[in-house]
Amino acid sequence: MEMRKSSIAKANGASKSKSNIPNPQIKRGQRILTEKPFAFVLKSKYRLERCDNCLEATKVLKCSNCRYVSYCNRACQSQAWAQHKHECPFLKKVHPRIVPDAARMLCRLILRLEHGGDLIRGYYTEHGSRKFRDLMSHYAEIKNDPMRLEHLDSLHAVLTDMMAESPSTVPNKTELMSIYGRLITNGFNVLDAEMNSIATAIYLGVSITDHSCQPNAVATFEGNELHIHAIEDMECLDWSKIFISYIDLLNTPEERRLDLKEHYYFLCCCSKCIDPQETKEMMAALCPNRNCGIGINPERTNCKRCDTGISPKLRNAYNSVMAFTRTNLEAMKDVAYLDVCKVCLNKQTGVLHPLNVWHVKTLDAAFEAAIDVGKWTDALDYGQRLLPGYRKYHGAWNPLLGLLHMKLGKIQLHEQRAKEALPHLEDALRILTVTHGRDHRLLAEQLYPLLIQARHEAN
Ligand SMILES: [Zn+2]
Ligand SMILES: [Zn+2]
Ligand SMILES: [Zn+2]
Ligand SMILES: [Zn+2]
Repeated sequence: MEMRKSSIAKANGASKSKSNIPNPQIKRGQRILTEKPFAFVLKSKYRLERCDNCLEATKVLKCSNCRYVSYCNRACQSQAWAQHKHECPFLKKVHPRIVPDAARMLCRLILRLEHGGDLIRGYYTEHGSRKFRDLMSHYAEIKNDPMRLEHLDSLHAVLTDMMAESPSTVPNKTELMSIYGRLITNGFNVLDAEMNSIATAIYLGVSITDHSCQPNAVATFEGNELHIHAIEDMECLDWSKIFISYIDLLNTPEERRLDLKEHYYFLCCCSKCIDPQETKEMMAALCPNRNCGIGINPERTNCKRCDTGISPKLRNAYNSVMAFTRTNLEAMKDVAYLDVCKVCLNKQTGVLHPLNVWHVKTLDAAFEAAIDVGKWTDALDYGQRLLPGYRKYHGAWNPLLGLLHMKLGKIQLHEQRAKEALPHLEDALRILTVTHGRDHRLLAEQLYPLLIQARHEAN
């Protein structure tokens, strides 16, 4: 399962209620699994600034042989050598070309399997474990997916070129497809503390976990190590009832299902995906009666609650704002521009409901853009307005919500507003303790110092 931004959704308000389970064996916030990767690859764009072993962003030194990968110190280099020694000559051979990340990952998997990796088990309970061959390969689906086949062909060509003149051989197409299938449907995006994807990895044990758009567990990372935390109380450790989210939950059920179908070859039938209300809320316009203000379906003739008529003018405004927002956010996929976000937000005012998912996405982009250019007042405004949408769609126990609170607290501290910073940092603490654990580096290195400073300055 490839994780983009790790996203957890939880029904409104339910998070604050006490658990319905009388004697839960697993409590919310409990770490239920920690696992080292079976294979992983640092994204090539970070190879000159992050260690290829621990993934730390620091001063790094290149491997003197291949000059492709870098390490933060000798200890990391020798730890990595067991795996790197097999690929080092191949990376050297193609130098100074950059190997596509998927090709390097496939190469690592081939070599790992060739050197005894077939026997390695990843444990998800004391006795429950999985080997690489136990992972789903989705062979039949990939065989009928022209886009995947084309991708695999190009990777095959890269591998053949890299691994020519070596005793290690590129597996035949059938075998390669089964490895590739396991990679694309079980690979995780390893995230740094800011939730940026920095590496791809396969973890064997955790591959047992299924997806839900309303999950009860969350995956977080520390270096290349994966942690799974329960975000709800659980009767017992039953992996058939433990779900994480593989996808971005800031999307409509239709988009999420398409995403899951395309990447993981299944149809999500979670409670959120089958609830027609979810799409209505995500796409809602704003009732034109200012005293009402509920989300409405612009195709209706009247507001359900206050009966105010919905004019063709409002309908047109809605359609044009939605199209305008989509086009501009698509165009800003990689970098968001503050002025463009502002134009979108202005057009949305009075037309889109504040919980319309496209409005939330725009606020999200505006928040990041404002931070990038150091416009702190703007950032605080967008970040605060972003909170209800994050709570609703990502859920109350989500790393992204915890991080948003932490960023808001940090900016307010910077603006010398310690009294306002404190509640945000305490919310961040409450959430991140559950999603990451008290001893996680994100808390130790970033959150605790901010809390100490805020408490000191607020008094
Ligand atoms: Zn290192
Ligand atoms: Zn090397
Ligand atoms: Zn779903
Ligand atoms: Zn109304």
